[in-house]
Amino acid sequence: MNVIEVKDLKKIYNESEVKVNALNGIDLKIEQGEFTAIVGPSGSGKTTFLNMLGGLDLPTTGDIQIGGTDIQNLKSSELIDFRLHNIGFVFQAYNLIPVLTAMENVEFIMQLQGVGKKERQDRAAELLEHVGLGDRINSRPSKLSGGQQQRVAVARALASKPKFVLADEPTANLDSKSTENLLDIMEELNKKEKITFIFSTHDQRVVNKARRVITLEDGQIISDIRKN
Ligand code: ADP
Ligand code: MG
Repeated sequence: MNVIEVKDLKKIYNESEVKVNALNGIDLKIEQGEFTAIVGPSGSGKTTFLNMLGGLDLPTTGDIQIGGTDIQNLKSSELIDFRLHNIGFVFQAYNLIPVLTAMENVEFIMQLQGVGKKERQDRAAELLEHVGLGDRINSRPSKLSGGQQQRVAVARALASKPKFVLADEPTANLDSKSTENLLDIMEELNKKEKITFIFSTHDQRVVNKARRVITLEDGQIISDIRKN
């Protein structure tokens, strides 16, 4: 089943006098359970594309269907709600809330969804256990390494039981050991829990782990390779 279907997606940035054609007609289908890397040189459109898929920014033209919903037709309040229930995000700079503990960071999304306290705490603890942080649930981000913070971010992304997780260069700030560790966890979540991951990267070791590699250049897909 396709979880994402994109048709002739274009994004033109024209806030300044220079018009930038960031995406030039992208067609793509992503199925449930994929572990897919988006690669390409800096400026090729990876972040723009992930932002469109996540409904964080709107395309200039084209369609994006997520689980059968055309997200460009949603009102902004509906889009916020749709995102909350369908999409998990992992960012390059972790973006955890500094005053909250690991557990509270993971709980936060579920709180927005209206999940009760006991269920929230149980699920947050379970997710943090899953990413190898069962003993750090009460630590604030400043007491955790970059790799540990990014694992909290993965747990947080999964808290809402999303249809898929988008990660924009999730390992860009991590050393090689933490990169490997994070990828192992993502791979295990993909294999065992069937979580769909779409991540952009510059890192060849991360590309090697992907089962499908989509390469962007100048806002177009120049190759799309599935491995077995
Ligand atoms: P990547 O993530 O692959 O490095 P981006 O999606 O960030 O690529 O950028 C694609 C192109 O769009 C680049 O030419 C970039 O300079 C431009 N761009 C990105 N965001 C904006 C913006 N908010 N306003 C204007 N141009 C932008
Ligand atoms: Mg980028």
